[in-house]
Amino acid sequence: MRIGVLALQGDFARHAAALGRCGVEAVEVRRPEELSEVDGLIIPGGESTTLLKLMDEWAFVPALEKFHAAGRPIFGTCAGLIVLAREVESPRQFSLGLIDVTVERNAYGRQRESFEASGTVTLDGRAHPLEMVFIRAPRIRRVGVGVETLAEHHGEPVMARQGSVLVATFHPELTDDPAVHRYFCDVVSRARVAA
Ligand code: GLN
Repeated sequence: MRIGVLALQGDFARHAAALGRCGVEAVEVRRPEELSEVDGLIIPGGESTTLLKLMDEWAFVPALEKFHAAGRPIFGTCAGLIVLAREVESPRQFSLGLIDVTVERNAYGRQRESFEASGTVTLDGRAHPLEMVFIRAPRIRRVGVGVETLAEHHGEPVMARQGSVLVATFHPELTDDPAVHRYFCDVVSRARVAA
């Protein structure tokens, strides 16, 4: 099993290292054709406007739509979540619409743009304590029916899943706990068996 990390911009090296800690081969993806070599994809944090510009330049949008339609899992963190969402506010901008959530960019206000929090994540029905690092994070303002909330912070969803699409507003690649990446690896491995 190989999992790609979209390596156009942002925090991709840390995700590759986190996959390595789960014993999974990580592949940096820089061209759409490289998606055919991976079973799942992580879209890292960074700056969503820059990420979108580069995705557009390299024709990643139709390629990611095809990847998703083929049932291959995608995990978006922070800016990665913003590009996967159905709807983006503050300001409104294009997004792939692969998970039915509305997100508001940079929504924690200046004084708390970046912070850490302890919370609980529920993976496969089991609750784990989790340290969460938020960096100029978006907030999930609406969750559609069919979207499962896996973690909350102050009663708001911060990690969610709809079918093969997983998203988090925080950065699990910046802590040593491999639980979230391990969960995504399991999602990818089950999707491979089903395919
Ligand atoms: N603030 C960034 C955006 O709106 C996201 C920040 C991040 O990915 N850490 O795109």
